Amino acid sequence: MTPIDLRSDTVTTPTHEMRQAMMTAPIGDDVYGEDPTVNRLEAKAAELTHMEAALFAPTGTQTNLLALLAHCQRGDEYIVGSDAHTYMYEGGGAAVLGSIQPCTIPFNEKAELPIIKIQSAIKPNDPHFARTRLVALENTQHGRVLNTPYLKEVSQLCQQQELGLHLDGARVFHATTKLNIQISEITQHLDSISICLSKGLCAPVGSLLCGNKDLIAKARRYRKMLGGGMRQAGILAAAGLIALEKMPERLQEDHDKAQALSALLKSIEGLTLRENWNQTNMVWADFDNPIGSLLTQHCAANGIKISPDDSSMRLVLHKDISHDQINRIGQVFSQFFEQT
Ligand SMILES: *Cc1c(COP(=O)(O)O)cnc(C)c1O
Repeated sequence: MTPIDLRSDTVTTPTHEMRQAMMTAPIGDDVYGEDPTVNRLEAKAAELTHMEAALFAPTGTQTNLLALLAHCQRGDEYIVGSDAHTYMYEGGGAAVLGSIQPCTIPFNEKAELPIIKIQSAIKPNDPHFARTRLVALENTQHGRVLNTPYLKEVSQLCQQQELGLHLDGARVFHATTKLNIQISEITQHLDSISICLSKGLCAPVGSLLCGNKDLIAKARRYRKMLGGGMRQAGILAAAGLIALEKMPERLQEDHDKAQALSALLKSIEGLTLRENWNQTNMVWADFDNPIGSLLTQHCAANGIKISPDDSSMRLVLHKDISHDQINRIGQVFSQFFEQT
Protein backbone atom coordinates (compact mmCIF):
# COMPACT_ATOMS: atom_id res chain seq x y z
CA MET A 1 0.00 0.00 0.00
CA THR A 2 1.43 3.44 -0.90
CA PRO A 3 1.76 5.59 2.21
CA ILE A 4 -0.60 8.51 2.76
CA ASP A 5 1.80 11.45 3.00
CA LEU A 6 0.43 14.39 4.99
CA ARG A 7 3.78 16.08 5.63
CA SER A 8 3.59 18.56 2.77
CA ASP A 9 2.13 19.23 -0.67
CA THR A 10 5.72 19.23 -2.00
CA VAL A 11 5.39 15.42 -2.18
CA THR A 12 2.86 15.62 -5.03
CA THR A 13 3.95 13.89 -8.22
CA PRO A 14 3.48 15.35 -11.71
CA THR A 15 0.32 14.44 -13.61
CA HIS A 16 0.30 12.23 -16.70
CA GLU A 17 -0.34 15.34 -18.82
CA MET A 18 2.77 16.98 -17.32
CA ARG A 19 4.96 13.97 -18.10
CA GLN A 20 3.70 13.96 -21.70
CA ALA A 21 4.35 17.69 -22.06
CA MET A 22 7.85 17.25 -20.61
CA MET A 23 8.65 14.62 -23.25
CA THR A 24 7.63 16.73 -26.20
CA ALA A 25 8.46 20.30 -25.10
CA PRO A 26 10.43 22.47 -27.54
CA ILE A 27 13.68 23.34 -25.77
CA GLY A 28 16.85 25.43 -26.12
CA ASP A 29 19.59 26.90 -23.94
CA ASP A 30 17.80 29.15 -21.48
CA VAL A 31 21.00 30.92 -20.35
CA TYR A 32 21.06 32.30 -23.92
CA GLY A 33 17.35 33.09 -23.55
CA GLU A 34 16.63 30.49 -26.23
CA ASP A 35 14.35 28.02 -24.51
CA PRO A 36 10.90 28.63 -26.02
CA THR A 37 9.08 26.73 -23.28
CA VAL A 38 10.77 28.67 -20.46
CA ASN A 39 10.02 31.88 -22.37
CA ARG A 40 6.37 30.88 -22.69
CA LEU A 41 6.14 30.08 -18.98
CA GLU A 42 7.72 33.40 -18.00
CA ALA A 43 5.45 35.32 -20.38
CA LYS A 44 2.39 33.52 -19.01
CA ALA A 45 3.36 34.33 -15.41
CA ALA A 46 3.86 38.01 -16.28
CA GLU A 47 0.48 38.05 -18.04
CA LEU A 48 -1.41 36.42 -15.15
CA THR A 49 0.12 38.69 -12.50
CA HIS A 50 -0.16 41.83 -14.70
CA MET A 51 3.53 42.40 -14.04
CA GLU A 52 6.16 43.34 -16.63
CA ALA A 53 8.36 40.27 -16.42
CA ALA A 54 8.97 36.92 -14.76
CA LEU A 55 11.85 34.55 -14.12
CA PHE A 56 11.85 30.75 -13.74
CA ALA A 57 14.14 29.33 -11.03
CA PRO A 58 14.69 25.90 -9.46
CA THR A 59 13.16 26.64 -6.04
CA GLY A 60 11.10 29.07 -4.01
CA THR A 61 14.04 29.55 -1.69
CA GLN A 62 15.95 30.86 -4.69
CA THR A 63 13.16 33.13 -6.02
CA ASN A 64 12.74 34.67 -2.55
CA LEU A 65 16.50 35.20 -2.29
CA LEU A 66 16.63 36.68 -5.81
CA ALA A 67 13.90 39.14 -4.81
CA LEU A 68 15.76 40.18 -1.67
CA LEU A 69 19.04 40.60 -3.56
CA ALA A 70 17.32 42.61 -6.30
CA HIS A 71 15.47 44.91 -3.86
CA CYS A 72 18.22 45.42 -1.29
CA GLN A 73 21.91 46.30 -1.14
CA ARG A 74 24.52 45.21 1.39
CA GLY A 75 23.69 46.88 4.71
CA ASP A 76 20.00 47.29 3.94
CA GLU A 77 17.26 45.85 6.09
CA TYR A 78 14.02 44.05 5.28
CA ILE A 79 10.98 43.74 7.54
CA VAL A 80 9.69 40.18 7.77
CA GLY A 81 7.55 37.89 9.95
CA SER A 82 9.50 36.22 12.76
CA ASP A 83 8.54 32.76 11.53
CA ALA A 84 8.29 33.65 7.84
CA HIS A 85 9.75 31.07 5.48
CA THR A 86 12.15 33.66 4.04
CA TYR A 87 13.61 34.34 7.46
CA MET A 88 13.28 30.99 9.26
CA TYR A 89 13.53 28.25 6.66
CA GLU A 90 15.90 29.47 3.96
CA GLY A 91 19.23 28.99 5.72
CA GLY A 92 19.58 32.70 6.47
CA GLY A 93 20.38 33.27 2.78
CA ALA A 94 19.55 36.99 2.81
CA ALA A 95 22.12 37.60 5.56
CA VAL A 96 24.71 35.07 4.40
CA LEU A 97 24.66 35.84 0.68
CA GLY A 98 23.22 39.35 0.55
CA SER A 99 24.45 41.00 3.78
CA ILE A 100 20.80 42.01 4.18
CA GLN A 101 19.69 42.34 7.78
CA PRO A 102 16.27 41.00 8.77
CA CYS A 103 14.06 43.01 11.12
CA THR A 104 11.48 40.55 12.40
CA ILE A 105 7.93 41.19 13.63
CA PRO A 106 5.62 38.42 14.94
CA PHE A 107 2.65 37.61 12.69
CA ASN A 108 -0.70 38.31 14.34
CA GLU A 109 -3.59 35.78 14.39
CA LYS A 110 -4.54 36.80 10.84
CA ALA A 111 -0.98 36.18 9.54
CA GLU A 112 -0.52 39.94 9.15
CA LEU A 113 2.41 42.07 10.16
CA PRO A 114 0.37 44.76 11.95
CA ILE A 115 0.68 48.12 10.12
CA ILE A 116 1.55 49.95 13.33
CA LYS A 117 4.37 47.47 14.02
CA ILE A 118 5.74 47.89 10.49
CA GLN A 119 5.62 51.67 10.91
CA SER A 120 7.61 51.58 14.10
CA ALA A 121 10.16 49.14 12.63
CA ILE A 122 11.07 51.52 9.76
CA LYS A 123 14.39 53.15 10.65
CA PRO A 124 15.01 56.87 10.22
CA ASN A 125 17.68 57.95 7.74
CA ASP A 126 20.54 58.12 10.22
CA PRO A 127 24.03 56.56 10.01
CA HIS A 128 23.32 54.63 13.22
CA PHE A 129 20.79 52.44 11.46
CA ALA A 130 20.60 49.98 8.65
CA ARG A 131 18.58 51.35 5.71
CA THR A 132 15.04 49.92 5.69
CA ARG A 133 14.32 48.95 2.10
CA LEU A 134 11.69 46.25 1.88
CA VAL A 135 8.67 44.64 3.53
CA ALA A 136 8.17 40.91 2.89
CA LEU A 137 4.78 39.27 3.51
CA GLU A 138 3.67 35.64 3.10
CA ASN A 139 0.38 34.38 1.59
CA THR A 140 -0.74 31.82 2.50
CA GLN A 141 1.12 31.82 5.82
CA HIS A 142 0.75 28.47 7.59
CA GLY A 143 -2.40 28.02 5.53
CA ARG A 144 -3.83 31.39 6.52
CA VAL A 145 -5.00 33.85 3.87
CA LEU A 146 -4.24 37.59 3.80
CA ASN A 147 -7.19 39.76 2.78
CA THR A 148 -6.71 42.28 -0.03
CA PRO A 149 -7.68 45.46 1.92
CA TYR A 150 -4.75 44.66 4.24
CA LEU A 151 -2.40 44.24 1.27
CA LYS A 152 -3.58 47.60 -0.05
CA GLU A 153 -2.85 49.26 3.29
CA VAL A 154 0.67 47.82 3.45
CA SER A 155 1.26 48.84 -0.15
CA GLN A 156 0.22 52.44 0.60
CA LEU A 157 2.55 52.55 3.58
CA CYS A 158 5.42 51.18 1.47
CA GLN A 159 4.79 53.82 -1.20
CA GLN A 160 4.79 56.64 1.35
CA GLN A 161 8.01 55.33 2.90
CA GLU A 162 9.65 54.42 -0.42
CA LEU A 163 9.95 50.75 0.49
CA GLY A 164 9.56 47.79 -1.80
CA LEU A 165 6.86 45.18 -1.09
CA HIS A 166 7.60 41.51 -1.76
CA LEU A 167 5.19 38.61 -1.30
CA ASP A 168 6.34 35.07 -0.64
CA GLY A 169 3.40 33.59 -2.53
CA ALA A 170 4.60 29.99 -2.44
CA ARG A 171 0.92 29.00 -2.08
CA VAL A 172 -0.70 32.19 -3.41
CA PHE A 173 -3.18 30.21 -5.54
CA HIS A 174 -4.56 28.65 -2.35
CA ALA A 175 -5.30 32.23 -1.29
CA THR A 176 -6.94 33.17 -4.60
CA THR A 177 -9.01 29.97 -4.40
CA LYS A 178 -10.18 30.77 -0.89
CA LEU A 179 -11.00 34.40 -1.76
CA ASN A 180 -12.35 33.49 -5.21
CA ILE A 181 -10.33 36.25 -6.90
CA GLN A 182 -7.79 36.56 -9.72
CA ILE A 183 -4.11 36.60 -8.76
CA SER A 184 -3.81 40.09 -10.30
CA GLU A 185 -6.05 41.39 -7.49
CA ILE A 186 -3.24 40.43 -5.13
CA THR A 187 -0.25 41.32 -7.31
CA GLN A 188 -1.56 44.84 -8.09
CA HIS A 189 -0.39 45.77 -4.59
CA LEU A 190 3.11 44.28 -4.89
CA ASP A 191 6.53 45.02 -6.35
CA SER A 192 7.43 41.35 -6.56
CA ILE A 193 5.99 37.90 -5.92
CA SER A 194 7.50 34.43 -5.64
CA ILE A 195 5.23 31.53 -6.63
CA CYS A 196 5.96 27.79 -6.17
CA LEU A 197 4.87 25.46 -8.97
CA SER A 198 6.04 22.36 -7.12
CA LYS A 199 3.56 22.26 -4.22
CA GLY A 200 -0.21 21.99 -4.61
CA LEU A 201 0.21 22.75 -8.32
CA CYS A 202 2.11 19.44 -8.69
CA ALA A 203 5.02 20.40 -10.97
CA PRO A 204 8.11 18.34 -10.14
CA VAL A 205 10.44 21.37 -9.82
CA GLY A 206 10.30 25.11 -10.16
CA SER A 207 9.27 28.53 -8.93
CA LEU A 208 8.62 31.92 -10.51
CA LEU A 209 9.60 35.44 -9.56
CA CYS A 210 7.48 38.22 -11.07
CA GLY A 211 8.10 41.98 -10.99
CA ASN A 212 9.03 44.92 -13.21
CA LYS A 213 11.60 44.56 -16.01
CA ASP A 214 14.35 46.24 -14.06
CA LEU A 215 13.91 44.01 -11.00
CA ILE A 216 13.72 40.84 -13.09
CA ALA A 217 16.88 41.84 -15.05
CA LYS A 218 18.75 42.15 -11.75
CA ALA A 219 17.29 38.87 -10.51
CA ARG A 220 18.36 37.13 -13.74
CA ARG A 221 21.96 38.23 -13.10
CA TYR A 222 21.82 36.97 -9.48
CA ARG A 223 20.25 33.70 -10.60
CA LYS A 224 23.31 33.02 -12.76
CA MET A 225 25.59 34.00 -9.87
CA LEU A 226 23.81 31.56 -7.54
CA GLY A 227 24.10 28.73 -10.03
CA GLY A 228 20.44 28.78 -11.01
CA GLY A 229 21.00 29.37 -14.73
CA MET A 230 19.64 26.12 -16.17
CA ARG A 231 20.12 25.06 -19.79
CA GLN A 232 17.32 23.02 -21.46
CA ALA A 233 15.03 23.94 -18.59
CA GLY A 234 12.03 23.81 -20.92
CA ILE A 235 11.64 20.18 -19.85
CA LEU A 236 10.76 21.49 -16.39
CA ALA A 237 8.94 24.59 -17.63
CA ALA A 238 6.61 22.36 -19.68
CA ALA A 239 5.26 20.88 -16.46
CA GLY A 240 5.35 24.35 -14.91
CA LEU A 241 3.08 25.73 -17.63
CA ILE A 242 0.44 23.12 -16.88
CA ALA A 243 0.86 23.84 -13.17
CA LEU A 244 0.29 27.54 -13.75
CA GLU A 245 -2.49 27.33 -16.33
CA LYS A 246 -4.54 24.35 -15.21
CA MET A 247 -3.75 23.32 -11.67
CA PRO A 248 -5.05 26.32 -9.68
CA GLU A 249 -8.56 25.06 -10.60
CA ARG A 250 -8.02 21.87 -8.64
CA LEU A 251 -7.04 23.48 -5.33
CA GLN A 252 -10.63 23.81 -4.09
CA GLU A 253 -10.62 20.02 -3.95
CA ASP A 254 -7.69 20.12 -1.49
CA HIS A 255 -9.50 22.72 0.61
CA ASP A 256 -12.57 20.48 0.68
CA LYS A 257 -10.46 17.51 1.79
CA ALA A 258 -8.97 19.65 4.58
CA GLN A 259 -12.48 20.58 5.73
CA ALA A 260 -13.57 16.94 5.64
CA LEU A 261 -10.55 15.90 7.72
CA SER A 262 -11.12 18.79 10.15
CA ALA A 263 -14.68 17.62 10.69
CA LEU A 264 -13.43 14.13 11.61
CA LEU A 265 -10.70 15.34 13.97
CA LYS A 266 -12.88 17.93 15.69
CA SER A 267 -14.53 15.54 18.11
CA ILE A 268 -11.33 13.73 19.17
CA GLU A 269 -10.42 14.30 22.79
CA GLY A 270 -6.78 15.25 23.43
CA LEU A 271 -6.51 17.32 20.29
CA THR A 272 -7.63 20.92 19.63
CA LEU A 273 -7.99 22.25 16.10
CA ARG A 274 -6.77 25.74 15.28
CA GLU A 275 -10.07 26.58 13.62
CA ASN A 276 -9.11 29.94 12.14
CA TRP A 277 -5.92 28.55 10.65
CA ASN A 278 -7.69 25.80 8.75
CA GLN A 279 -8.71 27.97 5.81
CA THR A 280 -7.01 26.30 2.85
CA ASN A 281 -5.27 22.92 2.35
CA MET A 282 -3.86 22.56 5.86
CA VAL A 283 -5.24 21.26 9.13
CA TRP A 284 -3.45 22.51 12.23
CA ALA A 285 -4.01 21.05 15.70
CA ASP A 286 -2.48 21.26 19.18
CA PHE A 287 -2.15 18.27 21.51
CA ASP A 288 -3.05 18.33 25.21
CA ASN A 289 0.07 16.25 25.90
CA PRO A 290 3.48 16.08 24.20
CA ILE A 291 2.66 12.95 22.16
CA GLY A 292 4.12 14.03 18.81
CA SER A 293 6.64 11.21 18.39
CA LEU A 294 4.26 8.47 19.64
CA LEU A 295 1.63 9.69 17.21
CA THR A 296 4.18 9.66 14.37
CA GLN A 297 4.97 6.00 15.14
CA HIS A 298 1.31 5.03 15.34
CA CYS A 299 0.61 6.72 12.01
CA ALA A 300 3.68 5.16 10.35
CA ALA A 301 2.52 1.71 11.49
CA ASN A 302 -0.75 2.46 9.70
CA GLY A 303 0.77 3.74 6.48
CA ILE A 304 0.43 7.47 7.22
CA LYS A 305 3.36 9.90 7.18
CA ILE A 306 3.18 12.99 9.39
CA SER A 307 5.82 15.31 10.84
CA PRO A 308 4.43 16.91 14.01
CA ASP A 309 6.47 18.52 16.76
CA ASP A 310 5.89 17.46 20.40
CA SER A 311 2.73 19.42 20.92
CA SER A 312 1.23 20.33 17.56
CA MET A 313 0.85 19.14 13.99
CA ARG A 314 0.24 20.40 10.48
CA LEU A 315 -1.51 18.04 8.07
CA VAL A 316 -1.31 19.06 4.41
CA LEU A 317 -3.90 17.92 1.86
CA HIS A 318 -2.98 17.61 -1.81
CA LYS A 319 -3.64 15.86 -5.12
CA ASP A 320 -2.13 12.51 -4.08
CA ILE A 321 -4.53 12.05 -1.17
CA SER A 322 -7.95 10.85 -2.23
CA HIS A 323 -11.30 11.66 -0.65
CA ASP A 324 -11.62 7.98 0.25
CA GLN A 325 -8.44 8.11 2.30
CA ILE A 326 -9.78 10.89 4.55
CA ASN A 327 -11.99 8.52 6.57
CA ARG A 328 -9.09 6.13 7.03
CA ILE A 329 -6.88 8.99 8.31
CA GLY A 330 -9.64 10.02 10.73
CA GLN A 331 -9.92 6.43 12.05
CA VAL A 332 -6.16 6.11 12.63
CA PHE A 333 -6.10 9.34 14.62
CA SER A 334 -9.21 8.43 16.67
CA GLN A 335 -7.71 5.04 17.49
CA PHE A 336 -4.53 6.64 18.81
CA PHE A 337 -6.23 9.18 21.03
CA GLU A 338 -8.67 6.56 22.42
CA GLN A 339 -5.67 4.48 23.52
CA THR A 340 -3.76 7.32 25.21
C1 LIG B 1 7.89 25.90 0.19
C2 LIG B 1 7.96 27.34 0.51
C3 LIG B 1 8.95 28.16 -0.04
C4 LIG B 1 10.02 27.67 -1.00
O1 LIG B 1 10.49 26.42 -0.79
P1 LIG B 1 11.36 25.57 -1.82
O2 LIG B 1 11.29 24.23 -1.22
O3 LIG B 1 12.71 26.19 -1.82
O4 LIG B 1 10.73 25.66 -3.18
C5 LIG B 1 8.92 29.48 0.30
N1 LIG B 1 7.99 29.99 1.13
C6 LIG B 1 7.02 29.24 1.66
C7 LIG B 1 5.99 29.86 2.54
C8 LIG B 1 6.98 27.88 1.38
O5 LIG B 1 6.01 27.13 1.92
